[in-house]
Amino acid sequence: MSTERIAQFVRPEIQALTAYKVGKADNLIKLDNMENPYSWDESVKQGWLHRMQEIDVNRYPSPDAQGLRSRLREVMNISDNVDLLLGNGSDELIQIICMALSKPGASLLSVSPAFVMYEMTAIFTGMKYHSVPLNDDFSLNKELVLSEIRKTKPSVVFIAYPNNPTGNLFDEAELCEIIETSPGLVVIDEAYYAFADASFDKYLDKYDNIVVLRTVSKMGLAGLRLGYMMASPAWINEFNKVRMPFNVNSLTQASVEYALENIDMFNAQTEQLCVSRESLFCSMSEINEIKCYPTKTNFILFRTAEGQATKIFEAIKSAGVLIKNLSLAGGALTDCLRVTIGTEEQNAFFLKALRESVNV
Ligand code: PMP
Repeated sequence: MSTERIAQFVRPEIQALTAYKVGKADNLIKLDNMENPYSWDESVKQGWLHRMQEIDVNRYPSPDAQGLRSRLREVMNISDNVDLLLGNGSDELIQIICMALSKPGASLLSVSPAFVMYEMTAIFTGMKYHSVPLNDDFSLNKELVLSEIRKTKPSVVFIAYPNNPTGNLFDEAELCEIIETSPGLVVIDEAYYAFADASFDKYLDKYDNIVVLRTVSKMGLAGLRLGYMMASPAWINEFNKVRMPFNVNSLTQASVEYALENIDMFNAQTEQLCVSRESLFCSMSEINEIKCYPTKTNFILFRTAEGQATKIFEAIKSAGVLIKNLSLAGGALTDCLRVTIGTEEQNAFFLKALRESVNV
């Protein structure tokens, strides 16, 4: 029977996993997944639809996406010394890095809590996974990270800057020390770059062992699936060998290129989200029953009273808003929930539901 074959042939570490789950949002206000809540101006949308008509979907996409790459370079101000690799979301770039570095016995080091796909991808690619707990305020425990690096000699260190799910930016000088101490590669994952006003791109010339990852997902294009890696040509040359040909489809290439031509609209949305984040943070901080963690992203992590997270999560859901119950992950995230910044109206609705839920 297939169960016996599965038991015999599928790698045991894969059998032991549970697939990544995305919460069902039917008819709920969706504030669970760090998406941009805004739609496009009608004229921008019409221009996009027009552009889509020109694409020959009978042809494979451009393998090197030259048009999109030069637009990205221009809009994101990417230096000529830095090379680019595009992926089907930055998730795929994480996978590409791990595939290239997973020599027998190789390990990946990150912090805890971190973006879950670092551990998952380490498992997929047969790498050992080590994680170093963050301090109680979710700052880096630098000494512990450095000693773990010296002990485990990881092939790659993954750091999200700002961090997901905690939302904070780690100390820049401490990260430089980590880069200088690491024997292998250090990946600075800037998925929330648009909201952070901070980047390690300036260190790409200084350090030859870093790559910077970005995504267009959080700026409002999550459905298109495009991530980009910035690194020296030597690293990109290796990673490019592992990339599947045509990994970024024609519709995505043309759509992101078009979106970048209209970057002002997205920048305005991002600015609005940053303003809304500050006001939501202030309002939430006035609620005695919860504690909010400082954030440089488009989400807010908050801690509820002991044992109350799931009850509050469910009450907010019953009121019509889906957020993320991180308490289920346990460890340092026990009693924690995460809300993505929505429109002003959505945030107000969430805030009301939150206030009511903590007082039940
Ligand atoms: N890195 C981090 C830190 C993230 O939070 C996410 C998305 N949740 C990703 C990478 C993946 O982003 P995408 O695949 O949408 O580009």
